[in-house]
Amino acid sequence: MSKAELLQAIPAPALGEPYLLTPGPLTTSMATKEAMLRDWGSWDADFNRVTAEVRKQLVAMAGVQDDSYTCVPLQGSGTFSVEAALATAIARNGKALLLMNGAYGKRAAQTLDYLGRDYLTLDKGDYLPPQPEEVAELLDAHPEITDVFLVHCETSSGILNPLREIAAVVKARGKGLIVDAMSSFGAVPVTVDQVPFDVLVSSANKCIEGIPGFGFVIIRRALLEQATGRAHSLSLDLLEQWRYMERTGQWRFTPPTHSVVAFHKALEQHAAEGGVAGRLARYTSNRDKLVAGMRAMGFKTLLEDNWLSPIITTFFCPAHPNFEFKRFYDELKARQFVIYPGKLTIAESFRIGCIGQIDTHIVGQLLEAIRESLEVMGVDDCSPAA
Ligand SMILES: *Cc1c(COP(=O)(O)O)cnc(C)c1O
Repeated sequence: MSKAELLQAIPAPALGEPYLLTPGPLTTSMATKEAMLRDWGSWDADFNRVTAEVRKQLVAMAGVQDDSYTCVPLQGSGTFSVEAALATAIARNGKALLLMNGAYGKRAAQTLDYLGRDYLTLDKGDYLPPQPEEVAELLDAHPEITDVFLVHCETSSGILNPLREIAAVVKARGKGLIVDAMSSFGAVPVTVDQVPFDVLVSSANKCIEGIPGFGFVIIRRALLEQATGRAHSLSLDLLEQWRYMERTGQWRFTPPTHSVVAFHKALEQHAAEGGVAGRLARYTSNRDKLVAGMRAMGFKTLLEDNWLSPIITTFFCPAHPNFEFKRFYDELKARQFVIYPGKLTIAESFRIGCIGQIDTHIVGQLLEAIRESLEVMGVDDCSPAA
């Protein structure tokens, strides 16, 4: 069988694989998978061209028109890039304000503990958004703060934080702004004209729909150039990664070649779908159909409508005595859908992602699978505990 025949014989997702309704890794297209069916030399000019194009397209996606920003890709999962970005952006004698409302804000604090950087936190608990006024107050009370860190979409609850309003407050006070846009970049517009960030971090396996293997940091060039001596780690030294890449066109250490070419292919499909606007439209339709269908069955969302992201939605578990998450998960998996456990401390919950190669037709199939699963479990009331 030829390669083309083999691929045609496999529907997406392949061979009974479930749809991954998780915030990355997620369900990728056949074209993206196919891009991985060849080997690449890390020194080869063809591969270096792919890397250069990927970097260029990501900077353009952030609305950058000149060379005031650059994109530095880095091997590893998204957290590796966040760690490298924090170490690069925050001076060793600097002090950060971390805006937290979930697991990824907490992880930033843990990272700064490792890095030995000073910080203050505004911790809003499981799901409340940090308010721009609170940020302004803290910055005015603590002029020693040099940088503010915010998670755009806090994937642990699915909340879309008020990034634009907070960015305005931060910039009005001349502080650095570091954005973890891991789970939003590519689907929710973040452009430098609207959100004047200094550093933005995302990764290959979220809204651009690549596979895991690397993250990337879009950073103001002047900030990067003044970061000499800040890195705490050889392999996570973003400045050195950038210098080497600029000088040679190559990654400093072995690149995740297959992941990079798959991502390049995914970017091509992203553009064909209408770029960020096109992707936002599809994910929003997925979310709207999901939330409406779940509410019709009696499920309740954690968040009110105006805080719901088009990325992932948290639902409370039904209080019904027959409902058990593990069983629910297994029933859905048997019907080709993988969902995500919840991460709240206040209540039992689960999450369903709207990203990846799925559309409203697939969401309709998911809702049907949920209906069937509840029926076999004997759950006839989906309202949560009071
Ligand atoms: C996925 C994600 C990360 C990175 O997580 P990894 O498991 O290291 O890829 C960081 N922040 C947010 C908001 C995320 O959704």
